[in-house]
Amino acid sequence: MKRRVFLGAVGSTASLGTLAYATRGSSETLDVRIWFSERAATYDGVADRIHEYLEEMLALDYWTLELSVGGTVSVSTEDAARLTTRGEWPMAVAAGELGRRDIERVSDVNLLVTDGGMEEAPTGYGIPHVASVGGARHIAELEPYDELVTDEARSIVPLTTPARTIQVLVHEIGHALGLAHEHGVAFIYEGALVATPMLSAYAWAPEYDAESSRCGTTIPAADDRERKLSLSFSSCARRALAPGGSVDS
Ligand SMILES: [Zn+2]
Repeated sequence: MKRRVFLGAVGSTASLGTLAYATRGSSETLDVRIWFSERAATYDGVADRIHEYLEEMLALDYWTLELSVGGTVSVSTEDAARLTTRGEWPMAVAAGELGRRDIERVSDVNLLVTDGGMEEAPTGYGIPHVASVGGARHIAELEPYDELVTDEARSIVPLTTPARTIQVLVHEIGHALGLAHEHGVAFIYEGALVATPMLSAYAWAPEYDAESSRCGTTIPAADDRERKLSLSFSSCARRALAPGGSVDS
């Protein structure tokens, strides 16, 4: 069953917070559609690179990824987080649903990629079914997946801006699917502190409340360890996304 009602009653940004999260239907397809801001669309190869990475990062047993490109969207700012928190992107998607804009949403994740900076958080934002993320120029610099990821089991990669950008992109997709930061973990591997997508850079943020993990693990102290990223969702995030799993908001 695909949900048909989508943000139909959204009239203001404030009301977005009151939307109850609806879990995915019984569909075995994960529908993800990506749009680009006009500036993001100026970089070559970004859509193909995202496609290549998501085919790997979202390759889970219980669904088949259906990834499509929605097109280019005119937006008031490249600040990706603001586009969702202030309602511009969610309302554009809702307007498309109502036939008032040329935006045809999909049932699971509607992701807008901008050319927003990736230096200062927040660099993206995700609410149920809708997300936005910056960093198009960094994704354009990302090497092919098979060159970057040599560790098949954990998908551990060096902490570079392009790698962090694609991790934040899948992090926001995770939020759009109902995952929280507490579904992320960090672990020590070959001496490095490795953060999975939902935890991401919070792994080394001193103010992050590590007690709230839903994964039954603690976050090791960053100390002066090398920092790395995993491009695979933690097993506890995978369990939450599985049929019968519990994502919530
Ligand atoms: Zn987040």
